[in-house]
Amino acid sequence: MDRRKFIKSAVAGSSWLLASNHLKGVLPLQAAAARPAASGLSRVEARYYDKLPDREIKCRLCPRFCRLGDKERGFCGVRENRDGKYYTLVYGQVASYNLDPIEKKPLFHFLPGSTAFSIATAGCNVACKFCQNWEISQMRPEQVKSRYLPPDSVAEAAAKYNCPIVSYTYSEPVIFYEFMYDTSLEARRKRLRNAVISNGFINPEPLTELIKVVETIKIDLKAFNQDFYTNYVHGELKPVLESIKQIARSKVWLEIVYLVIPTLNDRPEEIRQMARWLKAEIGPEYPLHFTRFQPMYLIKNLPPTPVSTLEKLRQLAMEEGLHYVYLGNVPGHPAENTYCPNCGQMLIERYGYTIKKINMSGNKCRFCHQIIPGVWS
Ligand code: SF4
Repeated sequence: MDRRKFIKSAVAGSSWLLASNHLKGVLPLQAAAARPAASGLSRVEARYYDKLPDREIKCRLCPRFCRLGDKERGFCGVRENRDGKYYTLVYGQVASYNLDPIEKKPLFHFLPGSTAFSIATAGCNVACKFCQNWEISQMRPEQVKSRYLPPDSVAEAAAKYNCPIVSYTYSEPVIFYEFMYDTSLEARRKRLRNAVISNGFINPEPLTELIKVVETIKIDLKAFNQDFYTNYVHGELKPVLESIKQIARSKVWLEIVYLVIPTLNDRPEEIRQMARWLKAEIGPEYPLHFTRFQPMYLIKNLPPTPVSTLEKLRQLAMEEGLHYVYLGNVPGHPAENTYCPNCGQMLIERYGYTIKKINMSGNKCRFCHQIIPGVWS
């Protein structure tokens, strides 16, 4: 496959796991000055941990606060205590990379039509039973094929492929925090932007620092009740809500995605509560995407979300006052488009991940000049 065909197929969103093979040999690996350990695991000291007596450590990166003895790893499987010092094992260890339209993340109010150079390592700090990237997220670094791409090589590759954005995505970028942070700085040096696609399960202190070096964060809000987080995510809702509030208070652009799973998190009352909470805590302007579930991983016994359910939930969220509520994984649906909340005109027409038309002048509606929140240039 030649480069043009590859980019076309990648943009169509059909082959991201294969993409790394297609890119082999053309990425600027010569920029990789520091080599990883022979094991294929990195040995870079982790940030956000406390040293405890008897060579124990406590990780402070995410709300799990894993407490570990010598040679033990945290829940995420990619951070290890070696003799009382804590290391990230996945710094520069890229398990998947691809060129994605930013609409695939989905981010709809952030440089529409742009391509993001997207990377992930193995590992995750939660364990969603419906994970669509479980082949890397639920694996330890030894269980996946990785390729060594340090931060400067990632930024160089993104620039080479004319991607204005580097995206940290697929698995959970919080668990490769050090790699993501340093890559963001390298990307900024090349005047690229950084997009973090996260579950929001991170502590306030590392999030405060991350916010200083990235331009946008998309948070997957997986439900609006703790029971779902306990039974299907193996995580906690409250810290995620705190992250959403913290990001909204910053200058970083925020969008929220809610994957609607039939019978598990699709109760209208729950959605109303969530929409009310979002409006009260962060305002009506941040986009909310309801996306369609497809049976996968450990939840194969449920059908895809009926489109009528998605439409009903969107209606409820808009009744509660949210201005930009989208539907995802329903190509061709009118709720993929952006409409002006003032005059109702269509501002951005989409089909799947493709932009068909933009009716905006800068950051304003072309018809009534209403300012549309987002990052448009
Ligand atoms: S980042 Fe990993 S090791 Fe640290 S607290 Fe979270 S799950 Fe545990």
